[in-house]
Amino acid sequence: MSKQTLSFQAEVAQLLHLVTHSLYSNKEIFLRELISNASDACDKLRFEAINDGGLYENDTDLQVKVTFDKDAKTLTITDNGIGMSAQEAIDHLGTIAKSGTKDFVSKLSGDQKADSQLIGQFGVGFYSGFIVADKITVESRRAGMKTTEGVRWVSGGAGDFEVETIDRAQRGTSVTLHLREDSMDYASAWKVKSIINKYSDHISLPILMEKEEWKDGELIDPNDEKGGRQPGGMVKTGTWETVNKASAIWTRAKKDITPEQYDEFYKQISHDMEAPLAYTHNRVEGSTEFTQLLYIPGKAPFDLYNREKSAGVKLYVKRVFIMDDAEALLPTYLRFVKGVLDSADLPLNVSRELLQESRDVKAIREGCTKRVLGMLEDLAKNDKLPDAAASAEGVTDVLSAEEKAEAEKNAGKYTKFYKEFGAVLKEGLGEDFANKDRIAKLLRFASSISDAVSVSFADYKARMKEGQEAIYYITADTLAAAKNSPQLEVFKKKGIEVLLMTDRVDEWALNYVHEFDGTPLQSVAKGAVDLGKLQDEAEKKALDEAAETFKPLLAKLKEALKDKAEDVRVTTRLVDSPACLVVQDHGMSTQLARMLKQAGQTAPDVKPVLEVNAEHPLVKKLDGSVHFNDLAHILFDQALLAEGGMPADPAAYVKRVNALLV
Ligand code: ADP
Repeated sequence: MSKQTLSFQAEVAQLLHLVTHSLYSNKEIFLRELISNASDACDKLRFEAINDGGLYENDTDLQVKVTFDKDAKTLTITDNGIGMSAQEAIDHLGTIAKSGTKDFVSKLSGDQKADSQLIGQFGVGFYSGFIVADKITVESRRAGMKTTEGVRWVSGGAGDFEVETIDRAQRGTSVTLHLREDSMDYASAWKVKSIINKYSDHISLPILMEKEEWKDGELIDPNDEKGGRQPGGMVKTGTWETVNKASAIWTRAKKDITPEQYDEFYKQISHDMEAPLAYTHNRVEGSTEFTQLLYIPGKAPFDLYNREKSAGVKLYVKRVFIMDDAEALLPTYLRFVKGVLDSADLPLNVSRELLQESRDVKAIREGCTKRVLGMLEDLAKNDKLPDAAASAEGVTDVLSAEEKAEAEKNAGKYTKFYKEFGAVLKEGLGEDFANKDRIAKLLRFASSISDAVSVSFADYKARMKEGQEAIYYITADTLAAAKNSPQLEVFKKKGIEVLLMTDRVDEWALNYVHEFDGTPLQSVAKGAVDLGKLQDEAEKKALDEAAETFKPLLAKLKEALKDKAEDVRVTTRLVDSPACLVVQDHGMSTQLARMLKQAGQTAPDVKPVLEVNAEHPLVKKLDGSVHFNDLAHILFDQALLAEGGMPADPAAYVKRVNALLV
């Protein structure tokens, strides 16, 4: 192939522009990204070579070399991994294969700070080289291909790139960064080493740099910051040294790993710029042996709700990387977890199909699920600072300074987690029957007495009124709609707390939880209100009487609304509102039906029950009104509006109201 110039995919061009403009404050990450690509390329070679040893071409010492040339102003990262064919270079370095790229690019706002956060999550990878380089040259040859089938790829990071075929004896890839004037400090051994130290110590491959020594150097003052040597300067010696620890972090003993190193590893695998909320690192021995290093991120990725998105856990078998989207390793509702699993028992050539069926994988999955739930329980337990009042009373021991610092470090983490991932966790209620109770304990809600999403079922139970027999809840599209729902009126009047559920997944998830710790859950919008012992005799009697006196009116209403309402009855659940809609005990809620329809799915046409407040002046006036029919429909449509719904015929509704106003 002779030299040709090709354009970047539109999204790449856009991304490149942003990379060079937004990531400026965190320049040095480019080295982590490029070394990580080099390391992935070696992992891929090792994996493909399981079935085809010839790919090694008699060179099995996989490694990454980092060199620089001050005069040429270049920094080069070379690996002897899988390499790229010309077509692969065009495809992989000119387009972004990741699903959701378009979505991602469309979310970028142009606000540098916000964008750099987003870009961090997306993982800029190779393109980050353009933060420090105004030109990048990639030379590569794919393992197993002829030496005449090498490729050179060159780009200035604007709209296009050049590719051509070259001779290349060496297998693998070198990426040469032509450093920008303001990034020349990366052409220094000391600087590069310190970055590798910070970001890439745990890469399991050796990272090599050429040793340097002082030419004619004479020690003048060792404390001088320039090293105090003669001007001959540092010269390369032609020998190489390994500059990283080169042992995969998860294979090292916990006591030898600092929290900072754990955090760094997380940032590397997750592309997150923030530290994780929690991690767990264990070697599990038993019928199946594996090592797990799992993290809970503090921030949701932009594609969290894409259930098809690749899982965040990488699978290794005896330190050989196998795949990085092994969804069989963790249930879907824990897809936010990042980390590494290294199994000692699975075969190296394990396929996806085999993973699905493997008993070892099942054990790993259960083990990991338990660990993650355990981490979340710990976060939840430590979310609040120990109560000052309680400790003053001597109820809790007075904390030592260390314990206090620890408590402060952990406070608020669960709240943060829940804000980002609570809705996803709820999917587990329907997905993970075995752990349903543990998941239910981890849920938090807003309630009629707390706007903050912080009320657990246990908190609720502890506050239940004497004689209260159910945990009451309401689902709605927004917190405001839930809080102001007419259905809540009687509960407010009696001071009974109601949980407010506003996540889309709530309706669905609640199908799987009927009780908590022996107390049934009861929607305040389903079935007739039964406040049980909370209702006194007088109220019950009043209701019975109203039902009797209103019988003829109810029959007329039922007739007028026969296309809209399943039934019409009087209720005690309302205080200020004239009417509300409820569904039959086991019916699908109107909110769920609405959601299904919005999603383009067929939902059964649930006709709700209209409940009217016998005490309300509007209801009292109904009987004998010449506008009976209009009022009946207005009553119904208003009840629909009050719960966030929409009248079937909004124009007719407006007409009726206007007619009455006039
Ligand atoms: P990511 O690594 O997240 O896929 P990058 O933009 O960093 O995204 O890289 C894009 C693709 O280019 C990689 O998936 C890989 O196929 C290819 N690539 C990048 N660097 C190398 C390398 N050193 N050796 C072989 N292939 C590479």
